[in-house]
Amino acid sequence: MKPGNTVLSSFGTTVFQRVNSLAAEHGALNLGQGAPDEDGPPDVVEAAVRALQEGGDANQYPPLLGLSELRRAIARHDARFYGLDLDLDGEVLVTSGATEALASCFLGLIEPGDEVVLIEPLYDSYLPMVLRSGGVPKPVRMEPPGWDLPREALAAAFSERTKLIVLNSPHNPAGKVFDADELAFVAGLLERFDAYAVCDEVYEHLVFDGAEHTPLMTLPGMRDRCVRIGSAGKTFSVTGWKIGYAVGCPRLMTAVVKAHQFLLFTVAPNLQKAVAYGLGKDDASFRALADRMQAKRDRLAAGLGGIGLEVLSSRGTYFLTVDFRPLGFTGDDEAFCRHITVEAGVAAVPVSAFYQEGDVDHFARFCFCKHDDVLDGAVERLARHFG
Ligand code: PMP
Ligand code: GLN
Repeated sequence: MKPGNTVLSSFGTTVFQRVNSLAAEHGALNLGQGAPDEDGPPDVVEAAVRALQEGGDANQYPPLLGLSELRRAIARHDARFYGLDLDLDGEVLVTSGATEALASCFLGLIEPGDEVVLIEPLYDSYLPMVLRSGGVPKPVRMEPPGWDLPREALAAAFSERTKLIVLNSPHNPAGKVFDADELAFVAGLLERFDAYAVCDEVYEHLVFDGAEHTPLMTLPGMRDRCVRIGSAGKTFSVTGWKIGYAVGCPRLMTAVVKAHQFLLFTVAPNLQKAVAYGLGKDDASFRALADRMQAKRDRLAAGLGGIGLEVLSSRGTYFLTVDFRPLGFTGDDEAFCRHITVEAGVAAVPVSAFYQEGDVDHFARFCFCKHDDVLDGAVERLARHFG
C-alpha cells in the first residue's frame, strides 16, 4: 500500500488526546487539556440557540470571510481593546477556531523553503502545519523556570530567508505575557529581515495580576507585518464551538483567505452570530472572566504548592507549570503524568510535549479552568497519594 503524507504521519496522536484517553480510562480528574468545565455565558449560548431557531441565514452557508455582523464585531473589539482600525471587507476573517486560522496562515503565507522561526515550548499544531506548508523550522528555546526570551538565539535564527515568526502571547504552556521590551525586540527583527509574524493571541483576555496583553501588531511598523489570531473558545469558555478569527493587512489576508477558502470556505453561522453578540459585551464581562480564572489559578497554585510541588508563575492562559522533583519523583515528565493519572487519579500534561527535543523533562502543566471542587479534589488526591 502506498503511504499517506509522510510529514503528517511522522507525528503521533496529539498529547491532548492521549492525556484525555488515559484520564478517562482511569477515571482521573482531568487537569490536562485546556477545556473549561462550564458552559460559557448563558446569554451568548442563548444567542446561538436563538439564531438556530430563527433559521434563515443562520442555517446556510455564510460568506467566505464570515458573517458581516461578526466581522464588524471583531473590528470593533480590536478597536476598543487595542486601538486597531480594521477594514471588515479585507482585513478580518472568521475561521474554525484559532487552529484553522493558524493552518490558513501557514498554508497561505509560506512558500516551500521559507524559514519559519518558532519559539519552544510550542503549541502542538505549529510544527506539523509549518512543515506541511513547506516551511523550514528555525526553533529557539525558552526554558522553565524563567521562560526568558533568548534574544541572541532569536536574532541568530533570523536570516534573509525568514518568512515569518510564530509568536504566542499570552503563552501556552509558559503562562508568560510578552512585555513591551520583548515585543519591541521581535518587531526590530521583523523590520530588519523584512519578515512577518503570525500572532497566536487566543488567551488575549486571560491575563492576571494587572498584566496587559499587547498585540505585536500595535507596535510601530507592525500593522502590515502581523496577522493577529483570536479564539472565541477561550474568550467565552466555549472551546468546542471552534470559532476563531484572523486579522491583518489586505496583502497578508488575501493569501490567508485563499487557504481558508479551500480548507473550509466558511464556519457555523449560528455560532458566528452568538460570538458577534458576545464580543459586543461590556469591558467588565471580559475582566470578570479573567478575575474568575485568576482566582482559580491562585486556588490551584496554593493547593499544589502545599503538597510540595514547585509552582512557576503564570500571568496568563489556563495553565500552571510545576516542577515535580521536590516530591522525590525521579522519572521524567511523561512518567510523572502517567503515574499521577493511573495511581492518584489526576491528569496533567508533560511539558516536554511542547518541545521537539532536549532536557526539559521534569515539569508538568496543570489546567485550572475547572470547577473549584474539581481543583480541590485533584489537590486532595495528589496530597493523599504523595502523603
Ligand atoms: N493556540 C494556542 C496557544 C492554544 O492553546 C490553543 C488551544 N486551544 C489554540 C491555539 C487552538 O485554539 P482553537 O480551539 O480556537 O482552535
Ligand atoms: N489548547 C488546548 C491545550 O493546550 C488543547 C486544544 C486541543 O486539544 N487541540 O490544552
